[in-house]
Amino acid sequence: MSPQGGPRLRVDPIACAAVGVCVQVAGAVVDLDRWGYPVVPTRALTPGEVEQADRAVRACPRRALWLDGAPPR
Ligand code: SF4
Repeated sequence: MSPQGGPRLRVDPIACAAVGVCVQVAGAVVDLDRWGYPVVPTRALTPGEVEQADRAVRACPRRALWLDGAPPR
């Protein structure tokens, strides 16, 4: 799967509580802004990044992250 057509990591800023678990488990694809809210790539993810992003999705206590365009698991 090419990065152009790969899944994208999305954040629901309303659901997010700026807890920061996502950056702890997926620091390669998630950064935090100055208020502690996640900043994610706006482009499609590479296969290696998808693995990390999936970890962040599963670790988020608020279900504020999801992979858009990823096959169901
Ligand atoms: S783990 Fe979830 S609630 Fe915490 S900062 Fe990341 S997206 Fe927000």
